[in-house]
Amino acid sequence: MRCPFCKDNNDKVIDSRESTDAFVIRRRRECLACGRRFTTRERIDETPLRVIKRDEAREEFDRRKILSGMITACQKRAVSMQDLEEITQRIEEKLLDGPEREVTSRTIGSMVMKELKKLDKVAYVRFASVYKNFESPEDFAEIAGEVIADAKEKSAKGKKAAKPAEDVRKLPPSGAAESPAK
Ligand SMILES: [Zn+2]
Repeated sequence: MRCPFCKDNNDKVIDSRESTDAFVIRRRRECLACGRRFTTRERIDETPLRVIKRDEAREEFDRRKILSGMITACQKRAVSMQDLEEITQRIEEKLLDGPEREVTSRTIGSMVMKELKKLDKVAYVRFASVYKNFESPEDFAEIAGEVIADAKEKSAKGKKAAKPAEDVRKLPPSGAAESPAK
């Protein structure tokens, strides 16, 4: 197996396991040249994963769209590439390992939103504004209000809330982010 980092062709399998539904066998590998680790998967049925877009058109799943959508939403935020890579990895694995071979862009968008909500409230609102196709300031106010309410609830519970309320109000009403899977 070719290493995705250094392209060397020597590796050893360090762990092998079937996913819960046994459609997929994952192998954790370590490159013998550079020492980095990566995962390969074998599907029993070889059917590629396809994404159903809003207009019902199908296209092949592309993890880079998830990543680039999040990068845009996280511009000028204190979010590391590693965090975004990890989220992309989690979502990708969930999708690739599942039994479904077609997934709607809406489902993927929801998964991204759920992750961003935990990571950075501003990025979450930006992403949501594009993904949910906000058309009016009211749409925007609604989701911003939801984030603020969440934060208030958290601080009321005595947990440390990460001051999202002010940040959210500074956002422009139309998102600068790009939808990940349109
Ligand atoms: Zn390598």
